[in-house]
Amino acid sequence: MQECLFCKIIAGEIPSKKVYEDENVYAFEDISPMAKIHWLFIHKKHTENISAMSQDPQQITDIFQAITRVAQEKGLESDGYRVVTNLGPNAGQTVFHTHFHVLGGEKLKGFGA
Ligand code: AMP
Ligand code: ZN
Repeated sequence: MQECLFCKIIAGEIPSKKVYEDENVYAFEDISPMAKIHWLFIHKKHTENISAMSQDPQQITDIFQAITRVAQEKGLESDGYRVVTNLGPNAGQTVFHTHFHVLGGEKLKGFGA
């Protein structure tokens, strides 16, 4: 996936502020944070969105195990956090490598909060 921004971040060709990495998952700070803490979790296997990713459910497991582990280790779990993924234009997806936004570190607005 030569032209994929997030594949280039995984490969280290584009710099990022790494939050976490294991053999399957990479997490980094969002360049344009929408909360005090705003991380992006991506799988090292390229897929375009959660519909494609769901064809290989192990990827979902890998991502959510990483998110919950890092949220616990970095102290987000006690006060809470939000996980968001966008698919397609109505949701405003701009990068077509499946990613999960993790938002926290403060009281979040929206979604009834
Ligand atoms: P989405 O709108 O769900 O596709 O989210 C894409 C996210 O990627 C946005 O929140 C952007 O701020 C973020 N983003 C774009 N380029 C970079 C980058 N080079 N490093 C970190 N985050 C980025
Ligand atoms: Zn990619």
